Amino acid sequence: MWAFIKGYCKRNGLLTLSVIAVVTGCALGFFLRSLNLSTQAKIYFSFPGELLMRMLKMLILPLITSSLMSGLSAMDTKASGRLGVLTITYYLWTTFIAVIVGIILVLAIHPGKGTEKEGHKGGSGPVMTSADALLDLIRNMIPANLVEATFQQYRTDLVPILTSSAVVESQANYVYVMPDYNNPQLGHPVFLELTPAPDVNYKIVPGNSKGMNVLGIVIFSGTMGLLLGKMGDRGAPLVNVCQCVNECVMKIINAAMWYFPFGIVFLVAGKILDMHDPAHLGEKLGMYFLTVMSGLFVHGVVLLPLFYFIITRKNPFTFIRGLLQALVIALATSSSSATLPITMKCLLENCGVDRQIARFVLPVGATINMDGTALYEAVAAIFIAQVNEYELDFGQLVTISITATAASIGAAGIPQAGLVTMVIVLTSVGLPPADITLIVAIDWILDRFRTMINVLGDALAAGIMCHLCRKEFEKRELTPNSSRRDTV
Ligand code: ASP
Repeated sequence: MWAFIKGYCKRNGLLTLSVIAVVTGCALGFFLRSLNLSTQAKIYFSFPGELLMRMLKMLILPLITSSLMSGLSAMDTKASGRLGVLTITYYLWTTFIAVIVGIILVLAIHPGKGTEKEGHKGGSGPVMTSADALLDLIRNMIPANLVEATFQQYRTDLVPILTSSAVVESQANYVYVMPDYNNPQLGHPVFLELTPAPDVNYKIVPGNSKGMNVLGIVIFSGTMGLLLGKMGDRGAPLVNVCQCVNECVMKIINAAMWYFPFGIVFLVAGKILDMHDPAHLGEKLGMYFLTVMSGLFVHGVVLLPLFYFIITRKNPFTFIRGLLQALVIALATSSSSATLPITMKCLLENCGVDRQIARFVLPVGATINMDGTALYEAVAAIFIAQVNEYELDFGQLVTISITATAASIGAAGIPQAGLVTMVIVLTSVGLPPADITLIVAIDWILDRFRTMINVLGDALAAGIMCHLCRKEFEKRELTPNSSRRDTV
């Protein structure tokens, strides 16, 4: 037995180290919590983890653009059209199934029952409507300025009425208020704690999501890739550049992987240092946590593997074993976009997925396919309705299932993006958006698990598409033109 464990750890060195890092990070975080470190000390302590996040984020842009441009340019129109239709249909289908699983569980478990309202509640104000959110999603598809789309953008969706011109970013149990650069008197960024200051009123207004506009970049790069493919030899120089960039990014990932276990220790410990005191969580919140976790389990461990098995007739768990490294990184970073480079590496190196297929299916999935987020949005909205003793009729449940699917598509692959897009779901059925503060205390931990399911959903989709479209791609491999392009 011991020899087997030793052999396994040797073969999967990096993965084993990453798992050990998560456990060590948790232990270290809980230990340091008892020392009551100052904010400054926490910032210094979290620094190696911050570097890990920065490394992963640095790779997102070159990876997405080079993957889509070189991947799509090498496909013929018919193959790319079929792959596109199958992928989007599969993504929408699995997201919708995730929502249904969430709805069934939250109605069966009823975590919000009881009379006492636990948690904290902000005031209500003018809110972002579902129509605003939809327009925002479409706006993001067509970035007015491509360079600007690659920048970090700040949310303007939760604005304290006190400082209505400030820009804020919600994180765990506090809201980060950015200064209004047009109004220097507002001064430096400040943290507004939601928990100790439940009376602050928040007004929710439409705005950009935090992080770069990945959706806009995916659409632009995908279109460029298709057009480059049609241009034939004239497009080849740019395609070659993209392939070189792609190859370099994969090499950087291989090198950076050795830093990951070290970074993960500090990333996880830093988050635990910052978290809300679990002793203050009420019974309802505990039940809500269990409901979301059971939903994620059913969807990720039963349904998605079952779909994979039905379509490919292969063992899904052998496939998932090759993905473990990506799942650990998703758990540690709470960001499916940041995990994308590792997911790509695992799919190509461990799961044998066709390069062209992975280059298309993964970036698109990391942007629009978030099964875990969709499930959580539906559960959270119905939980909030239950806490408010608000009876939802069948029509409203249908509305929640549609808006939760749309909200997950609109959520960026960054930590806690789902918390903000949930405003769309709440307003669609007339629930107070400020009640997201009821669940904010444990959102950071749920976020980690739903991110794992988001990543798993994208990766299994790539495996399924590889099975469904392999014939077209094998045919393409035989043509003299395509072999020139598929060098990585
Ligand atoms: N953190 C999730 C992701 O990156 C999005 C969310 O549900 O907040 O996939």
